[in-house]
Formats: sequence, structure tokens, C-alpha cells
Amino acid sequence: MSTTRVALVTGGSRGIGAAIAEQLAADGIDVAVTYARASEQAAETVRRITAAGRRGLAVQADSADAEAVVAAVERTVAELGRLDILVNNAGIFPMAPLDEVTVEEIDQTLAIHVRAVLVAAQAAARHMTAGGRIITIGSNLAERVPSPGLSLYAASKAAVLGLTRGLARDLGERGITAVVVSPGSTDTEMNPADGPHADGERAAIALGRYNDPSDIAATVSHLAGPGGRHITGTAITVDGGASA
Ligand code: NDP
Repeated sequence: MSTTRVALVTGGSRGIGAAIAEQLAADGIDVAVTYARASEQAAETVRRITAAGRRGLAVQADSADAEAVVAAVERTVAELGRLDILVNNAGIFPMAPLDEVTVEEIDQTLAIHVRAVLVAAQAAARHMTAGGRIITIGSNLAERVPSPGLSLYAASKAAVLGLTRGLARDLGERGITAVVVSPGSTDTEMNPADGPHADGERAAIALGRYNDPSDIAATVSHLAGPGGRHITGTAITVDGGASA
């Protein structure tokens, strides 16, 4: 078995996931990414992983489809030889007035943000050895909801806090950690720093600026590395002090 560690980052075609994939490659880790639709951008992420001297792999897997998520884990292990780090990052932002939220949207959001995280953790843990890491991208909106229209999103991101505490207990005996990274406003296509809500979000941030995706990637890098070995069952907020 290769001694180079292997990571799987869900939703690695764009935004925060792409930045995480690139950072982990720079850290000397081979990286697989999943994507739903952005095949060209996923291929670009793989090019960047390869340019950093690591092996990369892009797997189309809709996180709303539990079987596809498990298949992506298995393909990562089959093609890259092992799995040490799972980063659950794929996500959507279903912001809508409460009265307009549909059952379909509830099911889809919970499937992507919660069910996919649980089934990916199950599948990944079967392959992980001591030192394995399960890192889930949550949101600071799980703890504090500053405006209307966010009930579904906040519920889905709060769920991974409990899920991660459970994983820490389920997997601690095997030396595998589980942690949530909770970003605040981060400059991506989901939440551009020049978007319609940006000035209001920025006003709440103690440090006065949006996260760059690399701010989240740096925290994931720390958690995936030796500094993260005794951090489990908890969440780390990276929001420039918006929740302070
Ligand atoms: P983007 O919209 O920029 O990127 C989303 C990524 O997730 C893309 O790679 C996309 O792939 C993938 N994705 C979306 N739906 C699915 C799906 N059904 N199956 C597989 N992949 C999917 O978002 P961000 O980078 O901003 O967000 C990443 C994570 O960070 C999310 O979990 C989000 O909730 C969280 N977050 C973001 C914040 C922000 O301000 N940006 C703040 C707090 C948390 P594709 O393009 O192929 O569809």
C-alpha cells in the first residue's frame, strides 16, 4: 500500500471544496473530488492537484443520491489505493420564505447536507485506519440565524454538529477523528463578496471582510495534519468574528 495519504473532498469542483482539494495536494496528499454538474471545473481542480505533484481523480456523484456517494468512496479507494481523509463539503443554499419551502426542497437539502455525510462517513470509515479524519463543512448559521429565510439551511447544518459528536464516539476507539468546520460568509459562487446581501453580511464580521476559500482550506489542512490528531467531536468556526 502507498504511504501517501489519500483524501476525498465532496463538491470539489468549485468554491471552498476546490480550495480544500488544492491545499491538501500542496500538503502532499493525493486527492479525489466529487462534483454534480461542473465537470469542466472538476477537471480543472484535478489539473491543479496534478500540478502540485499529486494524483487527482474527479468522480461525478450527486450527493442527493446515497448510492452514488458510497460508490465515490469505493472508487477513490479502488483508484488511489486507500482513504485517510474525508471532507464532506458539497452543499446548496436553499434560502426562501418559510411559507415557500417545499417538501422536495426539504428532502433534497437533508439528503445532501445530512444523509450524504452519514453514508460517506460509514463507507469511508470501513477503509480508514488510525489517524483517519472525517471533516464536515457546516456553517456558522447552525448556531446563530441572523435573518429570515434560513430555517431549512440552518437545520441541515445544525444536524451535522450532532452527527459529528456521534461519529467521534463511534470511531474514537479506532483513532479516527470527526470535526466540523463552520464557515461564515465566504467568497464563492454561492455567496459572492459583491453579491446583493454582501454588504449586510460584511457589516456583521468583526474583521470586516469575507473569508477567502483559502481561509477554510487552511483550517481543514490543520485538522487533517498532525495538529488535528486530538481534535474530535467538536466544531471550529471560521467567520472573522461574525458570531462573536
Ligand atoms: P459553491 O456553490 O461555490 O460550490 C458548491 C460545490 O458543491 C460545488 O463543487 C458543487 O458541485 C457541489 N455540489 C452542490 N450540490 C451538489 C450535489 N448535489 N452533489 C455533489 N456536489 C454538489 O459553494 P461553496 O463553496 O460556497 O460551499 C461549500 C460548502 O460550504 C457548502 O456545504 C456550504 O453550505 C458551506 N458554506 C458556505 C458558505 C459561504 O458563504 N460560501 C458559508 C458557510 C458554509 P457542482 O458545481 O458540480 O454542482
